[in-house]
Amino acid sequence: MEEQLKKSDTLNVVGELAAGIAHEIRNPMTALKGFIQLLEDSIKEDHSMYFNIISTELKRIESIINEFLLLAKPQSLKFFEKDVTKIMQETVDFLKAQAVLHNVQIISEYEKELPLIYCEPNQLKKVFINLIKNAIEVMPNGGNITVSMEISQDHFIHISIKDEGIGIPKNMLEKLGQPFYTTKEKGTGLGLMVTYKIIEEHKGFIQVESESGVGTEFHIYLPFGSR
Ligand code: ADP
Ligand code: MG
Repeated sequence: MEEQLKKSDTLNVVGELAAGIAHEIRNPMTALKGFIQLLEDSIKEDHSMYFNIISTELKRIESIINEFLLLAKPQSLKFFEKDVTKIMQETVDFLKAQAVLHNVQIISEYEKELPLIYCEPNQLKKVFINLIKNAIEVMPNGGNITVSMEISQDHFIHISIKDEGIGIPKNMLEKLGQPFYTTKEKGTGLGLMVTYKIIEEHKGFIQVESESGVGTEFHIYLPFGSR
């Protein structure tokens, strides 16, 4: 039931390429948005239906570009020793309002006194945001998300994010993390790709356990005591 994913090389190439292209697209996009707005204001007939479609599609392009830019290495990645429970707690606090809106409760279970991890806190935050957001999105009628952290064997911290959502069919597990793989109408299929890349940069790995109709559990393993 478990599947380990290792996709580092492809992800690096795709990531750098994507980020470069995304940068190049952003400027013309800004111009397009501005001029379409001007056009809409200056045309007398009512074409609001067309303009709505244009605006929706532009927003969609924008959100894809923004996710791609997350792939770009930020100018200065700052790795240092940090308590991952703090990073997780900040993320959970940040997403609480969104969770409540969806009738979702986030339950945290952290083992006490976990070792510090040599990490890039902002990057790890992106990982946690992606996974918790996905968990919220697969529970349209609400439910619980359980976030837990414990020491596992061999100097790894084991972080688990578990939902009670629709689950992932077994034959789809291998698609997770592939660019543009999404089952959502408004999805980008880029969140997990970024997630896998960041965890690999931390010399960790991810396993996914899922059962259709029961839920999904993402296991993240991050090494401690090494650089
Ligand atoms: P997006 O959220 O934009 O679709 P992601 O890369 O975050 O892109 O996720 C890709 C796909 O993986 C989702 O569309 C969904 O099919 C599946 N997936 C991810 N997380 C979960 C989850 N917790 N439960 C069920 N399916 C999931
Ligand atoms: Mg997502």
